[in-house]
Order: sequence, then C-alpha cells, then structure tokens
Amino acid sequence: MPKAIYLSPERRPAPHGKYWGYDTYEQEVCTDIAGRAAALLAANGFLPILADPAMTIRQRAQWANKNKVDFYLPIHTNASTDGSKEGIATGCEMIAYQHPASIRANRCIYDEITKLYPSKRGLKNGNAYTENNLTEMVSAYIEIGFHDNRSDAAWILSSRQQIAEAITKGICAYYGQEYIQPEDKPLGGRSIGLGELVGLLRQQGIEAIRVN
Ligand SMILES: [Zn+2]
Repeated sequence: MPKAIYLSPERRPAPHGKYWGYDTYEQEVCTDIAGRAAALLAANGFLPILADPAMTIRQRAQWANKNKVDFYLPIHTNASTDGSKEGIATGCEMIAYQHPASIRANRCIYDEITKLYPSKRGLKNGNAYTENNLTEMVSAYIEIGFHDNRSDAAWILSSRQQIAEAITKGICAYYGQEYIQPEDKPLGGRSIGLGELVGLLRQQGIEAIRVN
C-alpha cells in the first residue's frame, strides 16, 4: 500500500505573506509548490493528498489523523518582518517536532533544499506548532526561505519545480527509496489526475477530498 503523504500549504490568503518586490503571496506560491510535489510524489509511488484550502490547520491535522495518513507536510515560506521593510534573514529552516522519526524526516528534506540554496538555519524546535503536536504521524514542517527579502523571494519563485523535486527527494530518502525523475511529463503543477487520485483514496477507505 502506498504511503499517504498529506501536503498542507499555507492557508492564509493575501494580504498575508507578500513576496518582497513581487505581486504574489505565500499561499499562492506554497499551493503551487505543493501541487508540483504532489505530481512528483505520485510518480514516485506515493499517494499525495492536498489539504482542502478551506480547512483550518486544526481541521487538517484532525483529518489526517482520522484518515491515518503516513506523513504530514506543512509547506510555508518565512518572514522576519511585518512586511513594511525588507528583511535580512535568509534561507531554509525546518520547524521540527522533537521525535526521532520527525527529526529525521525534517533533516532529509532540509538536506535536499539546502543543496539548491544555502542556509545556516537548520532545524528548530517545532513542538509548539499545531500541525506538529496534534498530528499522530511523522511530520516535516518546511519554511522554504524568507519571502520578505528580494533574493530569497526571487529564488523561490524561479525554483518552484526544483523545490518540489527537493521535497520529493527528501521524502524518498526518508523512506529509503531511490528518487525517480518522471520523464516526458510536463509537470506544470496541479496537473495531477485528480479523478484517479480520489478513486485511489476511496479504494483505501480514505474519504473523498474536496478539490477546487
Ligand atoms: Zn506560512
């Protein structure tokens, strides 16, 4: 049975999380990266589940528990300011639940993302975060980079496919399987066969998800 990977991108819409120097926002970018990662995860034999954007983080965590997903993945970009001035913090960090399995999962993804873009930030203690402490399965909580400075924002926006690949490679590494690069498939994100996915979910007794 494929491992079910629950992807939970930032839920707060604009004006939350404006990208410095760009007319785009954290929810839009993280949802895009989650869609790309879902396609790559499916190509690697996982069962990706995209969070219902209308659900709160508490509802998402409860849904994941009820449906016994295997791996819970919040996807965010970070900010060090209130948005009124450009921030100086830069790089990826992981908000890790302090359980050995989750620490290892966070490390696997961090090691892949930092191959693309250097960071000295590492893993932080994420025990206070709802999607870490309410979820009953392994979690890895990504802050890809800081959207409130121009260089991180530019990197994230131009590297969404590579970031999705890094996330997928990290999850493959966690499960000890080799990453397979899908060929001949234009992965524009959100192009995953949703009908097929919902059918697969139902086969496994997972309630149908609302997809917009
Ligand atoms: Zn966020």
